[in-house]
Parts: sequence; structure tokens; C-alpha cells
Amino acid sequence: MIEIRGVHKSFGSLEVLRDVSLSVPAGSVTVILGPSGSGKSTLLRCVNHLEKVDRGTVRVDGELIGYRQDGDKLHELPERLVLKQRANIGFVFQTFNLFPHMTALENVSEARRNPGRALELLDRVGLADKAKAYPRQLSGGQQQRVAIARALALDPKLVLFDEPTSALDPELVGEVLDVMRDLARAGTTMVVVTHEIGFAREVADTIVFLDGGRIVEQGPPVEVLDNPQHERTRAFLSKVL
Ligand code: ADP
Ligand code: MG
Repeated sequence: MIEIRGVHKSFGSLEVLRDVSLSVPAGSVTVILGPSGSGKSTLLRCVNHLEKVDRGTVRVDGELIGYRQDGDKLHELPERLVLKQRANIGFVFQTFNLFPHMTALENVSEARRNPGRALELLDRVGLADKAKAYPRQLSGGQQQRVAIARALALDPKLVLFDEPTSALDPELVGEVLDVMRDLARAGTTMVVVTHEIGFAREVADTIVFLDGGRIVEQGPPVEVLDNPQHERTRAFLSKVL
């Protein structure tokens, strides 16, 4: 579903991604681990062209993201087409980003103006009874579940999560992870940046460890978590486990 090939990204002289290649099969869950500043968010943002790659390519379901290929040259796509590509990719942020002046239902239906479908999605995240509530009337965990329902509103091919539980009080983390676990069970293709190692162990098909903008190690949880091959992975895990 996602094919990342040889991606480089710098901000000025700071190299943030260095030759990153990654394949994410349809229906799989990939968890990205790594220290703060290692390039996790930038990598997710490159997948939907919120950041432009300096080098390399990103394909989603075979389609080159952000560019049109012409022989061996790449031309940037017009904004209209980038937005169309982005509609196929759900994105859930650490800080929910709901519209404060809209109800839960309006937040979810905003993208497609289909209140029936929006109510179904709220029901899927266990919040049908909060359809008329405004974000300020919801807990952080409930707001994030609304944000997940909104990310599903356009029937995306995949959903990217950037530390979806990091802004939540500890007692609210579980309800959001439960919703994500349900999505994974239903076969949603997901890429999740998180420090929730228990979730990663249980739900991930592949764990990717990123450090200094490079993929240091990747594999199934039993390999990367229980038998890491690289010193930097071991050092990171000893801090978060
Ligand atoms: P992570 O999500 O792993 O914490 P990020 O991808 O957010 O890491 O950031 C990687 C590095 O790139 C950090 O040093 C960060 O300060 C820098 N960075 C991220 N976005 C920008 C930007 N828009 N402009 C300049 N530097 C940035
Ligand atoms: Mg980040």
C-alpha cells in the first residue's frame, strides 16, 4: 500500500531523513519507534506530501505522491491533485485538531457532508451519544476518538497516526488504543508513531526503529522488541520499557 524508496529530507543543513526505504503492505500495521527528533513525524508527513521529499519517492497504492513522472524527471503536482491524493490518507495528530465551533458530528461530516455516514463512524468509535457535543464538552480521549472518526470519513486507503495518545492523561490512553486496535482488526492499513510499547507488541505486524533519520532496524515485534540487533535500539528500549 505504501512504498517509500530512498527518501531524503533536510531542513536547511539539518538532515532529518537519510535514505529511508519502507514497504507497508495493505491491511498491515506498522509502528514507528524512535527518540524525539529522529524524524518520525517528518516521515509520516512525507507520506501525504505535507513535507516535500528532497530525494526519493513515495507511492501509495501504486500512485506517486506529490509528483508526476515524466521520463526520469519528476514534476510537482498542482495543489488540487495533491489534495485529492491526500483525501486517500487519513491523518490523526497528537493534538486532535477538531474544529472548536463544530459538534462532533459536524467535525466528522465536514469532509463529505454525509451526516448518516458520520453518525455510523461516531458509533464505530463508541461516541454516537456525543454527536451533538462540542469538543470542549468532551474529554481528551473522546476528542481523539472523534478525530479518528473524522480521519475515516473519506474512506481512506490508509491511516497515519502521529503520537495519538501522547497528549492524553494516562487514564484516557486505553480508550483510544482500543479504537485503534479495532481498526487494525478490521484490516485498516495503519502507520502509527507511538511510545506505547504494549500496543506495538500486540498490534504491530512490523516495528520500525528510526534513529538520526535512518531506519536502524525493522521486523516483527518479537524480533525488534525482544531481540534487538542494534545497540541504539537496545538503548532506546531500555528507556521506554
Ligand atoms: P520526531 O517526530 O521523531 O520527534 P521530527 O520529524 O518532528 O522528529 O523532527 C526531526 C528533526 O527535524 C528535529 O530536529 C526537528 O526540530 C526538525 N524539524 C522538523 N520539522 C521542521 C521544520 N518544518 N523546519 C525545521 N526543522 C524541522
Ligand atoms: Mg514527532
